[in-house]
Amino acid sequence: MKIACFSTKRYDIDSLTSGNTRFGHELAFFETRLTAETTALAAGFDGVCIFVNDDVDQAAIALLAQLGVKIIATRSAGYNQIDLAAAEAHSITVARVPAYSPNAVSEFTVGLILTLGRQIHRAYNRVRDNNFELEGLEGLELNQKTIGVFGTGRIGAKVIKNLSGFGSTLLAYDLYPNPDIAPLVEYVATPAELFTRADILTLHSPLTPKTYHLVNTETIAQMKDGVFLVNTSRGALLDTAAVIEGLKSGKIGYLAIDVYEVESDLFFRDLSNQVVQDDVFARLLTFPNVLVTGHQAFLTHRALASIAETTLQNFTDFAQSGQCRNAVTLAKISGN
Ligand code: NAD
Repeated sequence: MKIACFSTKRYDIDSLTSGNTRFGHELAFFETRLTAETTALAAGFDGVCIFVNDDVDQAAIALLAQLGVKIIATRSAGYNQIDLAAAEAHSITVARVPAYSPNAVSEFTVGLILTLGRQIHRAYNRVRDNNFELEGLEGLELNQKTIGVFGTGRIGAKVIKNLSGFGSTLLAYDLYPNPDIAPLVEYVATPAELFTRADILTLHSPLTPKTYHLVNTETIAQMKDGVFLVNTSRGALLDTAAVIEGLKSGKIGYLAIDVYEVESDLFFRDLSNQVVQDDVFARLLTFPNVLVTGHQAFLTHRALASIAETTLQNFTDFAQSGQCRNAVTLAKISGN
């Protein structure tokens, strides 16, 4: 197939080019995001390949359909950036990578908890400045802490397995409890019970209308004083303004995030010579007890190779049969 790949960085080009030796698609790489304004770049291509911060809304899909694009494949598990109803209305197939390496995100999540909990990021900077003072670097141990995991699908289940060696009490909430991890975790009946009991709360559910601003003024009030919040799923699970109020009052003791609700204007690019215009994000960076990374939890060599392989296979399946095993449809989602 002739495929236009959007939002591609050096590491995407490397992994897709290397994986494509087996598939033989004709790939073109564009660094720009796919939005309604950039769809013209897809002229002459059968399919487009996108990533998490592309904006494939109704207008973009109508334009892609006019250009004859038949398939949109995202190099991610999440697909909230695509208007599925519009894609179906224009008979465009949407495909994703349902699982590449849950270990990548899970291990990164544990890394964020250990880094922020033990202040390793601050120690790194001090030592580089020949400052070996320990004042202010007191950390927390995971042993005997209660860790709450919201969402126990592929990644959340791995997080529970990875955390199970620390001697913590592990709690979980999911609409559909996962029998694989039942021996390691106590499932609670409601999100409120998870929020009330957890010392550390880590989020691993997709962004849906139900999980949008899951962490808000009301739910923060239910949490323990000094709660440690971790979000490596999607930024809009947190109401960032409410979280900032929680940090200012001390209700939230630690915040580690790899995702931010309006990250598409910031992440995946070098803005070091520019003035950041997002005051909410800028405020987040001023807290000593906040650790922010730029949506990198997925970024391992193994995950990139696996993402490339599944994405290219999605295009091959579609080219051969008009079907795709990793297709996302409204019917599939409502059946979840
Ligand atoms: P998954 O589909 O395997 O699991 C998601 C789980 O969330 C499921 O068990 C589901 O039942 C549960 N869930 C959905 N809605 C819920 C609700 N309202 N209440 C309680 N539970 C609910 O997905 P996954 O592979 O584990 O990925 C989880 C999320 O992580 C993805 O949706 C994606 O947004 C994010 N992610 C982030 C990165 C990153 O680099 N930071 C990488 C991959 C995935």
